Amino acid sequence: MIMNKMIAYCGLTCDSCPIHLATLEKNKSTQQTMREAIAELCSRIYRIQLQADDQMDCDGCRTTAGRLFFGCFGCKIRGCASLKKIENCAYCGEFACVRLKKHFLMEPGALANLEEIRKTMDF
Ligand code: SF4
Ligand code: SF4
Repeated sequence: MIMNKMIAYCGLTCDSCPIHLATLEKNKSTQQTMREAIAELCSRIYRIQLQADDQMDCDGCRTTAGRLFFGCFGCKIRGCASLKKIENCAYCGEFACVRLKKHFLMEPGALANLEEIRKTMDF
């Protein structure tokens, strides 16, 4: 059920994000393998060089006191929704804005999550 999931402001599911899963992994050897796979992916796709260590740890987009992945720290959607003090973009009167629509082109699962939340809301 969507309400029990850790949903980012933009609709991504942080519970199943590989970065978050690596953060939670208890087995150190498995954790290192996961971190290296993330670093390799970021290098190949985004041309970003990351250290495969605890610097990439993340407790989820809506964390207030925890660790946040640097790629999500500067996210403009996150910044916008947190300034509006809403739970996520599903609750925004401007849904779905141009910025969010661009995001959905790459992340259709985020759109599906936010639409599911909006179905539960009274307008
Ligand atoms: S905020 Fe963290 S857990 Fe959520 S999508 Fe970004 S990196 Fe993954
Ligand atoms: S304007 Fe609304 S829908 Fe667009 S990013 Fe900001 S909070 Fe999300």
